[in-house]
Amino acid sequence: MRSPLIFKFGGASVKDAESVKNVAKIINQYNKRPIVVVVSAIGKTTNAFEEVLGAYTANKKGNEKQINKLLAQIQELHLGIINNLFDQPEEITRQVNEFIESARNSTRQQYVNYSEAYDAIVHHGELISTRIIAAYVGSFKETVWHDTRKLIKTDDHFRRATVKWEDTAQAIQSTIVQDCVHVVQGFIGSTANEKPTTLGREGSDYTGAVFAYCLNASSLTIWKDVPGMLNGDPKIFSNTTKIDNIPFNEAIELAFYGASIIHPKTIQPLKKKNIPLQIKSFIHPSKSGTTIGGMEHPVPKVANFILKKNQILLQISTKDLAFIAEHHLSAVYQLFAQKGIVVNLMRNTATKAMFCINNDTIIVPKVMTELGKTFEVEWTDALELLTIRNYDATDEARETQGLKILLEQRTMETVQFVFKRS
Ligand code: ASP
Ligand code: MG
Repeated sequence: MRSPLIFKFGGASVKDAESVKNVAKIINQYNKRPIVVVVSAIGKTTNAFEEVLGAYTANKKGNEKQINKLLAQIQELHLGIINNLFDQPEEITRQVNEFIESARNSTRQQYVNYSEAYDAIVHHGELISTRIIAAYVGSFKETVWHDTRKLIKTDDHFRRATVKWEDTAQAIQSTIVQDCVHVVQGFIGSTANEKPTTLGREGSDYTGAVFAYCLNASSLTIWKDVPGMLNGDPKIFSNTTKIDNIPFNEAIELAFYGASIIHPKTIQPLKKKNIPLQIKSFIHPSKSGTTIGGMEHPVPKVANFILKKNQILLQISTKDLAFIAEHHLSAVYQLFAQKGIVVNLMRNTATKAMFCINNDTIIVPKVMTELGKTFEVEWTDALELLTIRNYDATDEARETQGLKILLEQRTMETVQFVFKRS
């Protein structure tokens, strides 16, 4: 098989029958190439399955009725799309109904914990969507549907499973061999003993990167409803510019600071094999989009703006006002790592240390209680964190005008402000 192209289509790109037709049209333009098409669940189906899970875990009287009602809604959405796509919908309807029954069956089992139940129930969204896409594309192009649970092998950290690269590469390389279209599910995998797992919300981009890596693909293209990667979220910043080219490392940095265009884990495997990542518009597929790759510099060279909302600034000091020493910081970071807290910005002085973190309403109070055993803890919430990369004085002045800045940190490339909006 020649080196394939990998395409990833998210939920928004397959949200209705018209969208599915558009996806098929895009695939059809790439003739005579093997293409692996990674697809997410249709529209908001993952959220809908999370509701099914909610009904399952509520464990109340009448929850079976609620589960059936929610599953009927999911089924109706998909059968509606099918009826608009196929003249003879019998076979594909049967396949989709089979997965609906499999989902129902998964709500009748017992699981060790919430996360295992989550993956067992929620992963059905991708199975259903890919069946529909494969059947539709297959009506005019040679197409094979694969079960990603047999291809992406993971550990058993349910809801955030880690890929086992060797097993995965072997399974993918021995299965994806034909010169045709291969349709696979994003987001999902399975453990060594075949329990379904998921890679974390919005994880299908990463699935695309895993297939690209294992198949030494020519490129990975993520098809989105935006023209490419912009230098800021247009809903927040005015006068944004599309970035044409951007080096892998720079894209990783932007993802780290919170740019949400791609799942942060996606770039690493691509970088290892120098496989370019294209971000293109499924609305204007002939336009060039953004290429993330092995080039030296971004083009155009512009500042990047990233805003993280809902931040909290924790400030700790020792109870006897002794200096904050390395062992204190080490203990704090260990606690953060254990609770899954990511530090967005940190600063320490002789007697104080400050940490800007996402204000997760479940974890943060627990962490504060824990810290309170050793330290005096103060905090300020309802904050935002603005990062400007490759900044100049004009950018900085414009974006910080009128903000009440609590903390500021700067390197040659990056300036960050923790602030309160007045
Ligand atoms: N369907 C999953 C989600 O919505 C995975 C994805 O879209 O990438 O999180
Ligand atoms: Mg999705």
